[in-house]
Amino acid sequence: MQNRLAKTTFNINTQFFTFPANLIAPTWAKGYKCEAGKCGLCCLVAAPKDFPLRPFAQLDRPICAHYDVKRKLCKKHTERSPMCEIFPFLFGVEDGQVLISTCLTCPATNSESNIDPKVLPETLESPYFSRQLTLMNDYYEHAILSPHIWRGADQLWHTLTNRIQDFFSHKTDFPFLSELRDMIVDIVAGSPRIRAKIPPLPPITELMSRVKAYIATRFESSGICLVKSVDSKTMIVLFDENLKQKKAVKVKTPTKSPDLEIEKAARKLLNDYVSLICNRPFLSLATRMCATIKPRPVPGYLLSSVASSFVHIEIGATLIATRDKLKVIDRDTMREIIGFSEAAVLSRFRRPEAS
Ligand code: SF4
Ligand code: SF4
Repeated sequence: MQNRLAKTTFNINTQFFTFPANLIAPTWAKGYKCEAGKCGLCCLVAAPKDFPLRPFAQLDRPICAHYDVKRKLCKKHTERSPMCEIFPFLFGVEDGQVLISTCLTCPATNSESNIDPKVLPETLESPYFSRQLTLMNDYYEHAILSPHIWRGADQLWHTLTNRIQDFFSHKTDFPFLSELRDMIVDIVAGSPRIRAKIPPLPPITELMSRVKAYIATRFESSGICLVKSVDSKTMIVLFDENLKQKKAVKVKTPTKSPDLEIEKAARKLLNDYVSLICNRPFLSLATRMCATIKPRPVPGYLLSSVASSFVHIEIGATLIATRDKLKVIDRDTMREIIGFSEAAVLSRFRRPEAS
């Protein structure tokens, strides 16, 4: 499968050492520059754990108490949590290599120009980041030396990513989850050292009820999308970047993923995104999660985190196609589906308490 991923190397200088870091991004999302006072959408959809919340009637939900809605700024910028500081970067260390990617839910990734060379060092030269990198490197090295934790995770990752990329290179429509699950079950069955059980797919109504709010990032627009799904009724409300309501739709909660054709340009985007997932440091991220929650084999977490990335692509497609009454997914809609799925990927690996 042809993909359009770009790798850019930066030098990061910390208090104790200098090292190269590789930024991986699709060619259509390799920019990133968050300008103070311009967006602020991430502060409206997620607040760090243990930070105070305040009610916010306009969105009918609580938001971080430190967010200044009018100025689109954080009032406690210098005291904000590391989770806010590091957003939207996802990073890991594998075999001594630092791999970073931006989370594509952030509208500032919507750029074909190169990343501002000052942005990464500004964020990544913080003591929090250096400490995380050192820990991730230690977890990774410790895990590969512990056969009961590692259990051939690198071989599994290699097989999984090759098969998944091949699978999507032939995909021209939604839904795909049940077929993809069968393929993952098959891979696990052929890996005698992996003893993970692949759970059945949860009902779509249950998955829909877990969605609360996300940044609806398209190429030409961005805003917040709120979702309230209770039993058979779902309400979807879309706001623009100035929090003006653009669309409010009441629908019957879908009980299955609809059949959707994927346009050629949207397929390219999906394939690029699949390549990004497969080139991200999931091994390192899964290793950290296994080491910090409780010692357990890496393959199980790796499989569930990869599977959940794809579940969210399909849930995003179901939700957005239902909201917009679509039968065909175009490039801009696919961009929003990717942004939707990315929020879930990020939350799966966010563990500031592990610092
Ligand atoms: S969503 Fe991205 S661009 Fe917007 S404030 Fe957050 S980091 Fe900045
Ligand atoms: S602490 Fe600041 S940066 Fe973090 S969510 Fe709240 S307002 Fe945003």
